[in-house]
Amino acid sequence: MLAICVRCGNVKRDPSARCPVCGFRPQASMDKAKSLILSTAYEVDGEYRGKAREELISIAQAIGQGHPYAFDEAEVRAVVTYAERVLAVPTKRLVLDGLRWLLPPVLALVAVYVVLFWNK
Ligand SMILES: [Zn+2]
Repeated sequence: MLAICVRCGNVKRDPSARCPVCGFRPQASMDKAKSLILSTAYEVDGEYRGKAREELISIAQAIGQGHPYAFDEAEVRAVVTYAERVLAVPTKRLVLDGLRWLLPPVLALVAVYVVLFWNK
């Protein structure tokens, strides 16, 4: 996956990721939408809407040289809702968070069983 930091033009791997160069992380809906538009993750209902890799690279270079990319406002607005969905918290992280809450009681239960078993 290829994505571009909309602020500094740095090439990163994930449109929702924090930029390692300028520290910018898309959080506002508009920023998420813009980040998605400037990435290879930009597809709607399985259809690729993004730009060619070469074009993304040249946009990245232009932003890096101080020329912000001129977004089509109508396109950004259309993508806002979609971007919210695509760049939401990944399921994997949700599962890990769930496990973190589940683990202590499970371990406590295991400990109780171990103690009971030991006493016999
Ligand atoms: Zn950046």
